[in-house]
Amino acid sequence: MPTTSATPLLETEVLVVGAGPTGLMAGLVLHRRGVQSLVIDGKAGPTRESRALVVQARSMEIYDQLGLAEQVLAGANPAERIQLGPDAAPGIDFGRAQEGWTRFPGAQIFEQSLNEELLSRTLTAEGAAVRWGLRFASLEVPTGPSGRVELQVEGPDGPLRIRARWVIGADGASSPVRHALDLPFEGITDDATFCVADLRGVTGSPANSLTARFGRQRFAITFPMGPGGHVRVVWLHGETEPAQEAALAGMREDLALTYDRVDWFSAYRVHHRVASHFRQGPVLLAGDAAHVHSPVGGQGMNTGLQDGHHLAHLLADVSAGHLADAALDRYERERRPVAMTLINATDRAFGVIARPGPGTGFLRRRARDVLGVLAPRLLATELGPYVAGLLGQYRIRYHAVPKGDPVPRWARDPAVGVRLPPTEENAEAHRPTGLPDWVEGPFTFSPDLRGRLRTDRLYLVRPDGFVAASWPVHAGAVAVADVREALAAYVVRG
Ligand SMILES: Cc1cc2nc3c(=O)[nH]c(=O)nc-3n(C[C@H](O)[C@H](O)[C@H](O)COP(=O)(O)OP(=O)(O)OC[C@H]3O[C@@H](n4cnc5c(N)ncnc54)[C@H](O)[C@@H]3O)c2cc1C
Repeated sequence: MPTTSATPLLETEVLVVGAGPTGLMAGLVLHRRGVQSLVIDGKAGPTRESRALVVQARSMEIYDQLGLAEQVLAGANPAERIQLGPDAAPGIDFGRAQEGWTRFPGAQIFEQSLNEELLSRTLTAEGAAVRWGLRFASLEVPTGPSGRVELQVEGPDGPLRIRARWVIGADGASSPVRHALDLPFEGITDDATFCVADLRGVTGSPANSLTARFGRQRFAITFPMGPGGHVRVVWLHGETEPAQEAALAGMREDLALTYDRVDWFSAYRVHHRVASHFRQGPVLLAGDAAHVHSPVGGQGMNTGLQDGHHLAHLLADVSAGHLADAALDRYERERRPVAMTLINATDRAFGVIARPGPGTGFLRRRARDVLGVLAPRLLATELGPYVAGLLGQYRIRYHAVPKGDPVPRWARDPAVGVRLPPTEENAEAHRPTGLPDWVEGPFTFSPDLRGRLRTDRLYLVRPDGFVAASWPVHAGAVAVADVREALAAYVVRG
């Protein structure tokens, strides 16, 4: 698609390519932070397919910061437990294990199309509507540090050029932006075909629980989507590409699951891949464009939402001159390990338990029996909140310095690197998104329920909610030299 100097040109500070959950979140945060930005997508509007289902606790905290949590809760189906098998065994109450650690314990079943609809509607209402029907084609990255990226885009009225200081590639797993940068997408494609079906009229599936079902050949998880036995079931089929009827028939027979109607079915190969870099100069990758993994832990869309939130706040800080450009490296340094951990932990665990076939059937049934006895007991120990925190994604820790380097005094407090443990007062202080400048406070608040915050310390909190530094307070004051040291490290290196 040749463009010339006569091709219409748009200029913006940040261009977001892709209006899936990741790009929409980035676009909304940038807009609220007062950064000139534009979100484009090749499609005509938000997806209509349900796709990802689960909104985890940390994503709810982000929605809360944006003033959207009530709308998610009003449309969501809450799930607090994982039941092992369709019988009435008590199962794993992960919602209870999250109580006191987050203001949003449990998982909200609020499908991807609803997330996209909510974020897109909010952007439109605030005068920053997504430009649908604009398809990214190619880009040229400037050679000098002050140059702008120039992109060629196809639109309904012909080609368009867009010039931007930064570009976020949030354009999904097959990311044309990642391809344009020639960045390797390292990892594997699973041999097994993953099946997803949204069903109506399923009986014996509890309304507020995920259910793990253990067949002779298959392992499946069901997610409650709403009343009338509205259920999502996901399972690994085998190494062949099944036709819809054959896949459903095998699942029905093996899992003894009955239903009235199929709303949606999809079968695809799961990829486990991470981009070699999340940043190449002024172009940054986020969401599925940067990492893909098994959808079973309900983490994919959440990781994308959190990438978008993290990156948009960082870009807003650099754009406003609060942080040096080098601080943008923090995005890859902090978010790539999150993606790597997900791929290594979730996918491998799922691979063992869910691999289809009679050989692994014995292992699965043993796992069910062992989990049925052990899981409720383990949840009552310290391991319960730990695992529940990983699932809810609020236990992510960003290290202030590379592993092995001496930890500076301002980063020794265990609260540094995690998101600010929530209290009623600090949640309120956290909602001022929409102000162009975040320098506010200090706020005073009481210790959190779990006692991780202390009243004799001063905490520096980043706009994305993570604690950047912490200092002891003596006689109502902190040492200026300590604060200077932390700020210098934070502002330059991010
Ligand atoms: C069938 C299916 C079922 C899934 N089920 C689950 C699940 O149960 N649980 C789970 O956690 N995850 C699931 N996922 C994964 C989940 O959908 C993704 O993790 C999530 O959508 C990532 O969001 P994203 O915004 O990064 O990417 P996407 O949602 O893929 O959004 C990318 C956007 O970029 C746009 N785009 C692409 N190319 C261009 C271009 N050239 N120019 C402009 N725009 C472009 C696309 O139109 C799209 O809107 C599923 C995915 C699929 C496909």
